[in-house]
Amino acid sequence: MAPMPPKEISLPFVKKEHVAADAYEFFFDRRAVNFDFSAGQYIRMFLDIPQPDERGITRLFSLTTAPQEKRYLSITTRIMQSMFKKTLASLQPGAFVRFFGPMGRFMLEETDTRPRIFIAGGIGVTPFRSMLRYAIMAQLTTPIMLFASYKSVEDGIYYQEFSSFMKEHSWFRYIPTITQPKQSDNHWDGLTGRLTQTMLLKNIPNFKQSVYYIAGPMNMVDSQIDMLAAMGIPPEQIKKEKFTGY
Ligand SMILES: Cc1cc2nc3c(=O)[nH]c(=O)nc-3n(C[C@H](O)[C@H](O)[C@H](O)COP(=O)(O)OP(=O)(O)OC[C@H]3O[C@@H](n4cnc5c(N)ncnc54)[C@H](O)[C@@H]3O)c2cc1C
Repeated sequence: MAPMPPKEISLPFVKKEHVAADAYEFFFDRRAVNFDFSAGQYIRMFLDIPQPDERGITRLFSLTTAPQEKRYLSITTRIMQSMFKKTLASLQPGAFVRFFGPMGRFMLEETDTRPRIFIAGGIGVTPFRSMLRYAIMAQLTTPIMLFASYKSVEDGIYYQEFSSFMKEHSWFRYIPTITQPKQSDNHWDGLTGRLTQTMLLKNIPNFKQSVYYIAGPMNMVDSQIDMLAAMGIPPEQIKKEKFTGY
């Protein structure tokens, strides 16, 4: 599908919800604005920051709601140290926020029925969250497997939601791994360590015929591309979204 042309919109902030350790989902009311996007695309957000730091007043965020969800547009991010994130965290309900988008080509090819393997590093689950909600609402049944690596159990962004999706939809499998289990307060008896070739080979029945989507911080995306290349996956079977800034 051809991407929608981007445009500028302004939406009122409604609420934020805690989704993992330092990560929050921010909801904006989209009912008064005509705005289309494809699951997996991102948007540029502008904030009014009277005294911005050197990182400035704008950031890119993947959209985390599905296109069919007409009430809210949401983005999910980790609240860390920049002035931008502090301003975002202190938004009051009703405050209007400016956006430009949608952008990007990290989208589902619906006519492609090959199994899809999603690989996310931490916050990189955001475009996949939109794609999965889209696929569920559109009643798509092409197999999807999501490998997500999180630092700790508490960092498991959308862990509960993805686990529920797996129970409810036989075409979906969720395989989280915790890279620093000793830094977790909660018990974990699932996979640990970074995602390895062995983990992929053990879980993907037809790995050479699958299409790979990788999202997350730059270093993580690059290392996963190298790993897939070493497994003989050609570049045209790999889509990537690098979250610069982390
Ligand atoms: C296509 C695309 C999609 C993206 N989607 C998402 C998304 O869905 N969710 C998301 O969270 N991000 C996403 N990003 C990244 C996002 O745009 C920001 O770059 C990122 O969230 C970091 O934000 P920040 O600069 O406010 O830093 P922070 O989140 O505050 O911190 C991030 C890192 O930068 C360091 N840092 C922060 N401020 C400073 C400073 N002043 N000086 C030195 N170091 C500093 C911190 O120590 C930390 O290591 C995406 C990026 C792209 C390109």
